[in-house]
Amino acid sequence: MDIKVNFSGRAIRYTEDEIAVVVEAMRNADPLTQSRHMQEFESKFARYQGVAQGSCFTAMNGASALEMSAQLCLFKPGDEVVMPSHTFTASAYPYVKKGAVMAWADIDLHTRVVTAETVERAITPRTRAVVVVHLYGYVADMPAIAELCKEKGILCIEDAAQSIGSELDGRKAGSFGDMGTFSFHSHKNLTTLGEGGMLYLRDPEMQAILPALRHNGHCAYDFERPDYWKPAMGNVDMPMLRGEMLMPNNYSLGEVECALGAKLLDRIDQINAEKRRRALRFIDALSDFPELEFHREDSPRHNYHLLAARFVTGPEQRDRFMRAMYNEKGVKCVVQYIPLNRYDFYKRLGMGEAHCPNADAFFDSMVSFPFQHWLSEEEFDYMLEATRDVLKKIR
Ligand SMILES: *Cc1c(COP(=O)(O)O)cnc(C)c1O
Repeated sequence: MDIKVNFSGRAIRYTEDEIAVVVEAMRNADPLTQSRHMQEFESKFARYQGVAQGSCFTAMNGASALEMSAQLCLFKPGDEVVMPSHTFTASAYPYVKKGAVMAWADIDLHTRVVTAETVERAITPRTRAVVVVHLYGYVADMPAIAELCKEKGILCIEDAAQSIGSELDGRKAGSFGDMGTFSFHSHKNLTTLGEGGMLYLRDPEMQAILPALRHNGHCAYDFERPDYWKPAMGNVDMPMLRGEMLMPNNYSLGEVECALGAKLLDRIDQINAEKRRRALRFIDALSDFPELEFHREDSPRHNYHLLAARFVTGPEQRDRFMRAMYNEKGVKCVVQYIPLNRYDFYKRLGMGEAHCPNADAFFDSMVSFPFQHWLSEEEFDYMLEATRDVLKKIR
């Protein structure tokens, strides 16, 4: 069977206007990094998010934004981070890398994200931070979780890699916590040529050191220099954060990517709305198959980055479904986000134990449909019909 509908590694196609912005930056940007387009993207992103100017920082990808957020947590040995077990590995390993132990939190079986209750259950006296992942594009109950973190004096971090533009009570995903991270990877609803990221920081003290943390410790001299080349062209230092000195990185995003990112902010709401409309059409057209349970959310709280469902009838039914979809219909569905504690990597770190029955149950019977924005109506209709056929057949 030829593949008729593939699970693409690319989320969107670019318009001619967007391509022109890239070409213009390729031709004329000088320098090609750390300049005008970066400032433009960061400032436009902050406006889009409804957060303070100077609080958003581009990064070369979501993982590097997460790693810098982890550095800013200033972990001491034994410090714990509450992390959903059902997420992509890049949500977690940056915190492990910077010294934290993962305390796995369960998800809600229907929304597939953590709740204030599952977060609270994972909190201990060693908890330093909570990372909330708005997986699949759905914003978790941030007002309650942020309040809980505040009460306990714990840092609240949002991994909004999949949820750009999603909002709850008129506030954007990634703007509720102390920090928010975003990804512009090839798979995401907004992608800057395959790689890109953003870090939001609420704390002005953290904002002040982020440019040096991101870019080799480069900073300005704090005195007037009669000759611009003395003592050197620029200084290298790392400002202290709460009495500690952080090690610098070079996690900068190039000017061409930044120019494109700023441009794409004009279209992201439209992309999200189109994905949501399609997701709802798919879900509603399958409502006579209750064995396949979707999370239906007809509001901007969900951007339907991904279209995932669960077989309430269990893993065997799921496997029969995927096999028939692939072998007989040429539709390549996938399964995603094996609970991280089940990976060898986390087991070897001693983080292989979790009590997350919903995450396990969801992963073991989940299916994720091809859902790139550029699927044609014909391909989409074909996938819907194929899904109906196969569901009938395996009943
Ligand atoms: C994509 C993704 C990341 C990592 O982003 P990159 O830009 O690929 O480094 C982190 N967390 C989640 C939930 C993601 O989906």
